[in-house]
Amino acid sequence: MMARVSQEIIERVRDASDILDVVSKYVDLKKRGQNYFGLCPFHNEKTPSFSVAPAKEIFHCFGCGTGGSTIDFIMEYEKIGFVEAVQRLGEQYGIEVQLTQAKGGKELFSNLYELHEMAMTLYHKNLFSEKGKSVLSYLSDRGLEKEILEQFKIGLAHETWNELLTLAKKKKMSNETLEKTGLFLNTEKGTFDRFRNRIMFPIFNTAGRVIAFGGRALDPEDPAKYLNSPETPLYRKRDIFYGLHSARQPIREHGYAIFVEGYMDFLQLFQAGIQNVIALSGTALTERHALQIRKFTHRVVLAYDGDSAGIDASVRAGYLLLRFGIEPGIVQIPDGMDPDDWVRKSGADELKEAVDKAVPVLSFHIQTKDAKSLPSVQRSEFIKDVVSQISGVSDGIIRDDLLKSLAQEMRVEESDLLKNMNSQKQRNLKEPIPASSRESNEIPLTSKVQKAQVILVKILAGEDLDARQTVREMIHLELFLEPVLKKLAKMIIPIYDEIDYPAIVGQFDSDAERKLVTNILMGGIDESNLTSLVQDCIRTLKAHPIKENIREIRIRIRELEEAGEDPTEAIIEVAKLQEELKSISI
Ligand SMILES: [Zn+2]
Repeated sequence: MMARVSQEIIERVRDASDILDVVSKYVDLKKRGQNYFGLCPFHNEKTPSFSVAPAKEIFHCFGCGTGGSTIDFIMEYEKIGFVEAVQRLGEQYGIEVQLTQAKGGKELFSNLYELHEMAMTLYHKNLFSEKGKSVLSYLSDRGLEKEILEQFKIGLAHETWNELLTLAKKKKMSNETLEKTGLFLNTEKGTFDRFRNRIMFPIFNTAGRVIAFGGRALDPEDPAKYLNSPETPLYRKRDIFYGLHSARQPIREHGYAIFVEGYMDFLQLFQAGIQNVIALSGTALTERHALQIRKFTHRVVLAYDGDSAGIDASVRAGYLLLRFGIEPGIVQIPDGMDPDDWVRKSGADELKEAVDKAVPVLSFHIQTKDAKSLPSVQRSEFIKDVVSQISGVSDGIIRDDLLKSLAQEMRVEESDLLKNMNSQKQRNLKEPIPASSRESNEIPLTSKVQKAQVILVKILAGEDLDARQTVREMIHLELFLEPVLKKLAKMIIPIYDEIDYPAIVGQFDSDAERKLVTNILMGGIDESNLTSLVQDCIRTLKAHPIKENIREIRIRIRELEEAGEDPTEAIIEVAKLQEELKSISI
């Protein structure tokens, strides 16, 4: 049985414990401004980017992004669960932490499994119903036979808003449970099915239980061709491979695994008898994936899409696997096709042959970038880039082999490469982990529109009550377009006094969200010219939809002109919108 701690005790422990006190037992902290800095215990660094905000009772590392409350810190540092972390803190502060035998946790999980099972059955039945006929024949045109659709329980979500919801409601589960499945959308207008008008691919964990879905849009106009379940208590994207439950035995037998990008690729290969295959489930390859696959094999063949995005992704994945001591080979799928197309066009044997002849990542990288014939400046950049990838490989033998091959293929001295690598290493120690190794775990907010939202939320979450009030009066929630930022803004706008930061952090479940949120909550806005900064941000956000509108009309104008029609009306519309842009009031 799962043990639980009551909310009351959690709060008592939180109140009693002091983050500075707790963290300084593990990390040597020095005061700088309002916060404390030290060397991060969660990644390697030479200059401190790990920071603790005692007033806010949270920590955040500006290098690797890890962050959270005191309890999160103990969990992360000691690699223990929530309950145990609360117990340890309780001991430290003399609070008796009584455990209650909880149905809570266990019941939640079995409810989540049950709802997923129910959804899978419904979608699968839909596909083989009268209404599913056209979709079924589409899938059969794509070469998928009934057996494979049955085996992987492929299904269909109809174009309705509440087909699944109606069924789920009969189970009398709490709204909270429904929300946690990720199968529904909660909006101001109510709760709806998340997946509509889509071919549904159930995603199974290694035990073979359905824990999430990928949905492929049937409407070609749908902006999201693929939609996946969000992160839920059952589903952690960075841990899950699509198809691993069926492929693990074949992988062991063959001694290697084939990675593909898409569900359709997976099904096509599996059906063709290539069953040591797995697909990334709607995400880039992560370190967790590498650790996971290493339990089964040390050899991987990457058969990503043949377009340039697929080629780049397979080079990145290849170097990542190398870092974990996994030997990657890369298959280049011809003519920009994906493995699914290729097998349908040329049969499975051609792909099998290509898999046997898979190219090592380094050679593949050199070939596809045509690196040997690059002009010297770019050539040197290329070599530096590869050396930096190689320097991340922990296995010394693999690393030496790679350097040797690089020297041979690019006709440079191995000793020069070694020198370059050592000087890069020196530099890397001073810098946070390179972006490439943490990309999949982060929500990048880099555009001007996104940055403006970040700044506004930072001020709203700050300690300066006047600044918060200023911003609160000038904005409205609709300005926030990023879901995480909107959720955060919605939580903090109504707070007029002190913010309970750990409680806010606790509302964000996924790692990526928590990294972003703790970063924002640490603050760090230069408030010397607050009003004009806020005005700039708001202007950017208000202008954004108008600019988008103008862009669309310009496209229409071009189309009208090409069709020989009169675009005058559209041109006037653009002029009006431009006036509107100029007169945005704040
Ligand atoms: Zn760190």
